[in-house]
Amino acid sequence: MPTVPTRTSELPRSGIRVVMDLAWASAKPVLRLEAGQPDVAPPDHVLEAMRESIARKETGYTPNAGLPALREACAAKLARVNGIHRSPEQIVISTGSMEGLLSAVLGLCEPGDEVLIPDPGWPNYAMVCRLGSLRGVAYPLRPENDYRPDLDEVDALVNGRTRMVIVNSPSNPLGTVWDDEVMSGWVELAERHDLWVLSDECYDEIVFDADATSPAVVDGGDERVVAVHSFSKTYAMTGLRVGYVSGPLHVIETLTKMQEALVACVNGPAQRGAIAALEGPQDFVVAMRERYRRRRDLALSVARETAIPHVVPQGAFYLWLPLGAGIGDTMEFCRRLVSDAKVAVAPGETFGSNGAGAIRVSLAASEETIDEGMRRIASVVHAASLS
Ligand code: PLP
Repeated sequence: MPTVPTRTSELPRSGIRVVMDLAWASAKPVLRLEAGQPDVAPPDHVLEAMRESIARKETGYTPNAGLPALREACAAKLARVNGIHRSPEQIVISTGSMEGLLSAVLGLCEPGDEVLIPDPGWPNYAMVCRLGSLRGVAYPLRPENDYRPDLDEVDALVNGRTRMVIVNSPSNPLGTVWDDEVMSGWVELAERHDLWVLSDECYDEIVFDADATSPAVVDGGDERVVAVHSFSKTYAMTGLRVGYVSGPLHVIETLTKMQEALVACVNGPAQRGAIAALEGPQDFVVAMRERYRRRRDLALSVARETAIPHVVPQGAFYLWLPLGAGIGDTMEFCRRLVSDAKVAVAPGETFGSNGAGAIRVSLAASEETIDEGMRRIASVVHAASLS
């Protein structure tokens, strides 16, 4: 009997999924604050464009790199919103930004290479490294440094096998946004050691009181920064699976060849929806951002009122609560929150060892759910004098 390699069979399960299953299995209703999924439908004109595409029977393969009109629309958006000036030929459409990240990591690293990943950071980075037989090396983001990287410390993690650094701003799970200084620091570090910078900008348009910037726009960024963007959060299109990768031409040509082996192409009607999203009115994006801002402000006001330690998110739609070592194992703590308080949140340690003592609250829920959920968390924390 052939064996399944442990590289894949032992792929750790996301703690968020575990909590989700517990919430589904609960006999009594649970307040759902664990998932990073917008709680609204995409704008009508996006759905209409997809309906029209289906009516035209556009069900065949599309070019590996994506529909030319979508690549053009993405190039225009990158220039308009992100200040990234790249031609349509420097863009490949991916099956969600997740597949774009996967293909960039696999395409730019050799098995055995090391990839620097944020800790706390989105768990999928470590999973992708493992799938590619790469070593994910966590770089710590610490509260005492406002969750900014200590670049001297990162420098010391670099060795002859280090090939890439992954950066994510606005951050999931922290909600922090890095400024030009941090981004320049990353590009300088990458230049010094000849590394790729893979910039996950999935939340680029959900920013409240900061300017989100891309390492692709700082000096030297053009040549070594591969940026990944998504339609999932900005236009509430998570299940439609459309994202895009931009970078130096030879990188995009390579990733385009890889598309054939990975997914062949992205779903045609979904790409039509994505074109409509970028070319149609942007009031949906403004309204979403304001809705998340209101929810963030509400969550912060409950956190302050109930004296719960928190990090003020400047972007994305998560609230990071560094409750302290007293909560013990964060997965166990989340189990208790589901069973005793009927509230589901994400365990900090699923985002890396620097997530110990913390939980992540998703703001992709109604104001009532956030208000009540935060109060229930506070009462569990205070009842046990944990924080
Ligand atoms: N990057 C981050 C930081 C995320 O939080 C997510 C989804 O939650 C993604 C990328 C992937 O998004 P998608 O594949 O839907 O574009």
